[in-house]
Amino acid sequence: MGLLEGKRILVAGVTMDTSIGFAVAKVAQEQGATVLISNFGRALSITKRIAKRLPVEPPVLDLDVTNQEHLDGLADAVREHLGPDATLDGVVHSIAFGNPETLLGGKFLDGPWEDVAQALQVSAYSLKSLTMAAKPILAPGAGVVGLTFDATVAWPAYDWMGVAKAALESTNRYLARYLGPEGIRVNLVAAGPLRTIAAKAIPGFEELDSMWASRSPLGWDNADQEPTAKAVCALLSDFFPATTGEIVHVDGGYHATGA
Ligand code: NAP
Repeated sequence: MGLLEGKRILVAGVTMDTSIGFAVAKVAQEQGATVLISNFGRALSITKRIAKRLPVEPPVLDLDVTNQEHLDGLADAVREHLGPDATLDGVVHSIAFGNPETLLGGKFLDGPWEDVAQALQVSAYSLKSLTMAAKPILAPGAGVVGLTFDATVAWPAYDWMGVAKAALESTNRYLARYLGPEGIRVNLVAAGPLRTIAAKAIPGFEELDSMWASRSPLGWDNADQEPTAKAVCALLSDFFPATTGEIVHVDGGYHATGA
């Protein structure tokens, strides 16, 4: 019996096989879940190719979290693939965007509002949008899990994405507060730096990356998405029935150390 046996899970934000979302989809399938994945726009064709590398090829949905029509059509899109009465037991938000040219890598003091607004909408507000879009088909006890990068401090290079992650972490707590009475749990996993496309696009990411392996009590492999994916799946499972509004660190223990 897998940890997610019989559960149906949507993983939003899979582009490449390096995506954290890809690793989540893989572990979830290995643990018995039926998985759907999503991406949007031009990268959708890449996701469709990458989907074939999972143990079971999942349906790929077109879901731009800033597009209200896509959000309004999410429940129908899920039911088209899983059946007319299907529900979801889990939703994974593995989505972020901040313009690396204007917002990251030392651009903090000049970041223009239009780009900051986009980063906040895609990376933080969308946890609310995605959760509410899925809510009509969420099963009792369902879990929502997002991905953050510890926003309690100001990191080198991370700049406005750090602000967006602080907003995401607060959004997580408010969603937990509002949806708890309906039995829906909302949590985040705070991962250490992982070499995904999004991370490599951050100018100065290496600086963050290089601090991690040497300072984490458990060490840190920036090419191994599996520990993060396992934590996401654990939070989606029935083994965290009384946990919501939480942030679980999967960072080799870095957050618990002083500089
Ligand atoms: P990734 O593979 O690039 O995944 C990010 C995903 O977000 C991509 O699939 C991207 O699609 C999607 N996305 C961007 N804008 C979107 C929109 N408007 N609607 C729907 N999807 C959209 O990078 P990742 O590192 O796995 O990131 C996943 C999550 O983990 C993010 O929240 C990230 O901040 C977080 N995280 C990453 C690290 C790290 O070091 N990598 C550490 C901690 C937390 P496109 O590729 O098509 O743009």
